[in-house]
Amino acid sequence: MGPTKTPGRPGNESNDNKGKQDLLSKQIQAAVSYLVVSLIGVWLFQQFILQPLLIRELAIPYSEFKSRLAAGEIVSVTLGQDRIVGRMKNPDATGETDAIIPFTTVAVPEGDPTLIEALDAAGVEYSVSEPPSPVGSFLLAYGLPLALMAGLWYAASRQMARGGFGAGGIMGIGKSKATEVRPESVGVTFQDVGGADEAIGELSEIIQFLKTPEQFAHLGGRIPKGVLLVGPPGTGKTLLAKATAGEAGVPFFETSGSEFVEMFVGVGAARVRDLFEQARQAAPAIIFIDEIDAIGQSRAGAVRMGGNDEREQTLNQLLAEIDGFRTEKDRPVIIMAATNRPETLDPALLRAGRFDRQITVSAPDLAGRLQILRIHSRAVKLTPDFDLERAARITPGFSGADLANVVNEAALLAARRQAEAISMQDFEAALERVVAGLEKKSRLMNERERTTVAYHESGHALVAELLPHADPVAKVSIVPRGRGALGYTMQMPTEDRYLLTREELLDRIAVILGGRAAEQVVRGTISTGASDDIQRASELARRMVTEFGMSEKVGMVRYATQQYQFLSGDTGASASPDTLALIDEEVQQLIAGQYERAQELLRRHRGALEILTGKLLATETVDGSAVSEALAAE
Ligand code: ADP
Ligand code: ZN
Repeated sequence: MGPTKTPGRPGNESNDNKGKQDLLSKQIQAAVSYLVVSLIGVWLFQQFILQPLLIRELAIPYSEFKSRLAAGEIVSVTLGQDRIVGRMKNPDATGETDAIIPFTTVAVPEGDPTLIEALDAAGVEYSVSEPPSPVGSFLLAYGLPLALMAGLWYAASRQMARGGFGAGGIMGIGKSKATEVRPESVGVTFQDVGGADEAIGELSEIIQFLKTPEQFAHLGGRIPKGVLLVGPPGTGKTLLAKATAGEAGVPFFETSGSEFVEMFVGVGAARVRDLFEQARQAAPAIIFIDEIDAIGQSRAGAVRMGGNDEREQTLNQLLAEIDGFRTEKDRPVIIMAATNRPETLDPALLRAGRFDRQITVSAPDLAGRLQILRIHSRAVKLTPDFDLERAARITPGFSGADLANVVNEAALLAARRQAEAISMQDFEAALERVVAGLEKKSRLMNERERTTVAYHESGHALVAELLPHADPVAKVSIVPRGRGALGYTMQMPTEDRYLLTREELLDRIAVILGGRAAEQVVRGTISTGASDDIQRASELARRMVTEFGMSEKVGMVRYATQQYQFLSGDTGASASPDTLALIDEEVQQLIAGQYERAQELLRRHRGALEILTGKLLATETVDGSAVSEALAAE
């Protein structure tokens, strides 16, 4: 069975959505500022270009027009709907050229009944202008400037896409912004990555392949292409990718998914093409795409605002590039990508031959933190009595980046008091500062929470160990792993199973409820940390009743016409209300029975529960043997 996870608290949600929100607000900002700029532009255009262009005649009041008409100074007029334009003798004429000048006046609203008569009397040549085409004048007043602004904006955003004016010019829009790091300047190896031994182990195959591709293929290794690094921010995914390049001695192309997401359709795709072209020329090489979810989000997923076509094109281009390059035998390109939300990725990305290798990079446990602290204190000076072990112990839940941050802060503090070396006090003071920042992000647990999580996971583990039909425990941890999980208990099936008996399913439910049972036994109360467990247990119980025919009362009738039909609240037409009530009752009884059974077990083995919890709090991660040892020691 897979890992048994406890669900997270709401605080984590915001972290996960941050990238998306950033992108969205960037787009909104761009749109709003464009709107403002273009409105101002239209206004300026009308004020200073259109108006003077159209109205260069002398504007005179209607009364003056009439008196000049009477005085015989008007030469000709064109009568418009709301305006009369014409030519008249210039009273201030200085010579031949300005003897006759154009004039304009605003017509009387309802028309002047005596005007035609007066014109006839004065012998003025007159005509009537056609009413102006509303479309034409609208286009002139708004269409032209808007088209102009759109053109300007397009040019400007192409420039911005290039990272500012000047660099590369307008033609550089489709160029990838990835930075290439030559092998000799990669500068990091696995020596610089702490607490990630599992990930490093899995990456060694990639290195072997990059170093000696022919030999690798010769030995029958399946040629790797894409590696997905999955883990929370700051756990060293970028570092691992870079170190892989460092170990293999190949160039490293680093970019981020968000750099491919632009307002204009086709730009991202062009950048992807360019990136792969560059990498192919430098091959063997590693391409690293951070935050791949920015491009790789599931197309079937939730509603997204804007940029859909663009994202889709970019994703398709990425898929095409990954499929396209037959990794040439001696010049392979490996694509590594990082995400904290693999479940949001488009399944097409995860298919065989693409990102089919997933490596979990979790927050470090005690030993891992010690290693990371060792690495980051290499470059600084510590006082002789500096206790790295203690430093690791007082930083539970810290990621590699957090730890690097604390060491850095401590160095600053030491420098401020002009000390030779960083003391334990500096470290603790720095820790306090960093924690204040982290608590805002709600990523750290307080001691009581940690203890609760430890009891909870111990509960899962002990019930699994004690029940005859449950899979043995492989690993128990209170290190937060992945989205929302506060800890996990990993069980290892002894063999692949296709058929499960009623007893096995019941034991499985008891194990799932074991976490909550432990909280109940020890604390006498339960936390919200078990809601995912509850969901999984109910799901299983309901399927036993409605699908597997494992309830005597309900009988061997399949009531679920579709999987999970009952969960979705869609009752279909296959069961009467009475039967539905009976099903509910049976499910509840099943769960209550197993919950009681789990509690009973834990009460009986309360000693082992305390021992295991103590061990977990001390080292954060223990393997399966610790569970049996705790039972033996009680
Ligand atoms: P991610 O890509 O997972 O967000 P990074 O690789 O960018 O994390 O980590 C940021 C920095 O934090 C690294 O450059 C390194 O200094 C430090 N760091 C993170 N994880 C580790 C680790 N496991 N070992 C050593 N340093 C680490
Ligand atoms: Zn649990």
